[in-house]
Amino acid sequence: MIIDCHIHLLPRQVKVDRTEFVIKDKAFGSLFSSAKAKVVSPEEIINYLDGSGIDKAIVFGFPWADYEIASKNNDEIWDFYERYPDRIVPFATFSVLQPELAYKESSRTLSGGFAGLGELAMYRNGWGAADFQALRPCLDLAQHHGVPVMIHVNEPVGHDYPGKVFVDIKALFETISDFQDIDFILAHFGGGFFIYSLMPEIGPKMKRVYVDTAAAPFLYDNRIFSLAVQSLGEDKVLLGTDFPLLGISRYERMLDQANIQGELRAKILGGNVQTILNRRHLQKINDAI
Ligand SMILES: [Zn+2]
Repeated sequence: MIIDCHIHLLPRQVKVDRTEFVIKDKAFGSLFSSAKAKVVSPEEIINYLDGSGIDKAIVFGFPWADYEIASKNNDEIWDFYERYPDRIVPFATFSVLQPELAYKESSRTLSGGFAGLGELAMYRNGWGAADFQALRPCLDLAQHHGVPVMIHVNEPVGHDYPGKVFVDIKALFETISDFQDIDFILAHFGGGFFIYSLMPEIGPKMKRVYVDTAAAPFLYDNRIFSLAVQSLGEDKVLLGTDFPLLGISRYERMLDQANIQGELRAKILGGNVQTILNRRHLQKINDAI
């Protein structure tokens, strides 16, 4: 089973005309003012999955600063899931700029059945300690519902690009450490954060930390896969393409070049994320009993 854990679907209105959104939401503007930044429809996502042999995808929107737009985006993700329940796994995203509204939106979506939170991102000013603090009540909810949480974490060094932000790594670790029952998926190989799992006092607290591969072809050479596997373990690396930014073929090429085949490849391409999603399913059954 091939599962892409990182696909963005923006509101229909944004696909029709993004001008107003680019002006109103500075974070969105920084990423999407260029027409080269693609926005796709649900149908285009299904076509991509079909054309690439991908069975399922985790799909989420954008962390809009305006909660009405964020809610609308989450609602459209839910509609998409309802139309393709076997193909689409819905995650809810929002900004934590207004913590009470973030809590309200996470509560609304998780009670409604969303399978996770993410990709949570602070594209404008980055993730400071106060932002991770503001996220905590939402994490309490995620823990209660037994769902994974995906956080956008990028590398602190190297070339600049839209969406590359400061991340307070210490605060990130403290957050992870305080919520050890949550499966955290750190997008973009967690900006290299996984390396700290090799520290004896840190590793045991990162047992449920995963990384996804999103944007890796733009960021790393092929060795990143085996380094992440060596640091975190074979069960911890998840295929995420960031579609429509990139499709799966670029990642498959990296896996080929890194000579990652067989069981490990199957785990990265879907087995690992399937285990996370099944865990939630099992919890739901247990809760029902
Ligand atoms: Zn991201």
